[in-house]
Order: sequence, then C-alpha cells, then structure tokens
Amino acid sequence: MMINCTECGKAYSDQAKACIHCGARNPASTGGGCLKAVIGLVVMVVLFAIFVVAIRMYTFDPKEASEQEMIMACRDALNDTANGIETRQTLREACDSWEQKFREKYGHGPY
Ligand SMILES: [Zn+2]
Repeated sequence: MMINCTECGKAYSDQAKACIHCGARNPASTGGGCLKAVIGLVVMVVLFAIFVVAIRMYTFDPKEASEQEMIMACRDALNDTANGIETRQTLREACDSWEQKFREKYGHGPY
C-alpha cells in the first residue's frame, strides 16, 4: 500500500521506514521503533537500579555512622562530671534507649 509523505506529500510504500523522496520518517513504520522502545526500557531499568543503589548507599551507612556518633557524644556528656547528677540521669536514659534502638536496627552495638 502506498501512503503520502507527511513532509513532502509524495507517495511511497508504507513498508518503507522513511520517505524515499525526502527521508522523513514513516510514522506508521514499526521497524526500529520497537527495538528503540526495548533499549529505552532497559536504559530506564538500569538507571532506576543505579538510583536505588545510590539511595541505599546514601541512607544506610552514613546514617549508621551519624547515629553512632550521636550515641558516642551522648556517652561523652554522660561521663562529663560538669553535668549535674539529674542531667546525667536523664542523659543515661536517653543514651540507653538510643543504643537499644541502634542494636535492634543494625544487629550490633554502636562501638
Ligand atoms: Zn517525503
């Protein structure tokens, strides 16, 4: 079947990927388009995988490290005798609960 080119208006076969007169792409042709869609999909999946890995790397290790630092700082303040006995008692409870949460989350202590 012959179709008319959308660009130059001349007739060419609908089996052709592009107009034989001006080279404009045949909008009805699926040749190459399907492969392009598959490649596009693969690229998207790969990009998504990289994105997920990057997010995991960003959210897991640095977070564990910063929580570790927070507990260490808490312990330091706890050992600082300049703090009053009531402050240190409150701190001890806070430190213990943070440490407990840390152990539950990461399966090991913060030290
Ligand atoms: Zn044409």
